[in-house]
Amino acid sequence: MILMNDFKAEPGEVREAMLVATRRVFESGWFVLGKELQAFEQQWALHCGTRHAVGVGNGMDAIELVLRAANIGPGDEVITTPMTAFATVLAVLRAGAQPVLADIDPRSGLLDPDSVQRCLSKRTKAVLLVHLYGQVRQMLRWQNLCADAGVALIEDCAQAHLATSAGRVAGSFGLAGAYSFYPTKNLGAIGDGGAVVTNEADLSTRISRLRNYGQSVRYVHPELGMNSRLDELQAALLLVRLGWLERFTVRRRAVAANYDQHIRHDAIQLLKAPEAPEAHARHLYVVGCNARDELMSHLKDCGVQSLIHYPVPVHQQTPCTELRRDPRGLAQAEAHAAGCVSLPCHPQMTDDDAGCVIAAVNSFQSR
Ligand SMILES: *Cc1c(COP(=O)(O)O)cnc(C)c1O
Repeated sequence: MILMNDFKAEPGEVREAMLVATRRVFESGWFVLGKELQAFEQQWALHCGTRHAVGVGNGMDAIELVLRAANIGPGDEVITTPMTAFATVLAVLRAGAQPVLADIDPRSGLLDPDSVQRCLSKRTKAVLLVHLYGQVRQMLRWQNLCADAGVALIEDCAQAHLATSAGRVAGSFGLAGAYSFYPTKNLGAIGDGGAVVTNEADLSTRISRLRNYGQSVRYVHPELGMNSRLDELQAALLLVRLGWLERFTVRRRAVAANYDQHIRHDAIQLLKAPEAPEAHARHLYVVGCNARDELMSHLKDCGVQSLIHYPVPVHQQTPCTELRRDPRGLAQAEAHAAGCVSLPCHPQMTDDDAGCVIAAVNSFQSR
């Protein structure tokens, strides 16, 4: 079976280096907020081209912490997409702000700037842009739209590690970028993890505090925070895995380029090509198909796993049915949710594996 993710197939070297790092942490006798975290934060900021990185508990908390540190909360609106992981919208709600859902561009699955424009109100404080599937697109347009509207641009980079546009890395285009290191992400921990990257020193300092109960120095709490820290073990493991991220991303791009070139089927639509190869981290390779269930069962028969990202848009989830949205509705997000399928695209795949997936897709007979 060609799996969506195959951690057991990773090079033995990665595993060995992670075991060495694990031993180092055990022997240090220091497990939370220490040198490993500092080293990882420094490295991650370097990779993102930002002045600061703050390690936190997970990607959802990273978003909530950015909003809280930017004083975005009750009475404020944050425009985002219904075609995302539920965590994106939940983080806005957890911060006490109101998510407002704009529709997507069907060619990419990303937020549609015209729809976002229709969602702006006096209460809008930020656009929370999700780099869905790993795509970074139209960043100048988003920067201008946010600047003109006087709202913050916040990036949900959970799927876009090292995706680059005009030499800038995801997370460095606006106020801050929120990363997840959930195991299946392009840079994944051996458990939960996340980070905020930003060029704003004050924001970074405030997030460092908020992630640690709002504590400034020991036993002093100038404000109420949360407990959301990236522990030493995860930081040490992430440092090892960061050393492989570039190579792994190159491999993802090679598999995806192979699909782009060779998947040919009347009943299957590819998403729009990226603006440049580097502008896509290739976290997920998604195609559209009206006969999705049939396609997925055919792939399974051919030994190819597939998944759906995402089958239910956020506004159709029970707690979110009343959320404010584009007055014209969210028809594109609904159509995308009804037909999208994710094919395996991970760094352990060989060219032969990619060939198998292509053959499986191209041999699909829709009735
Ligand atoms: C995974 C993901 C998150 C949430 O990250 P966690 O670390 O699981 O909390 C948020 N947004 C997007 C787009 C994601 O893919």
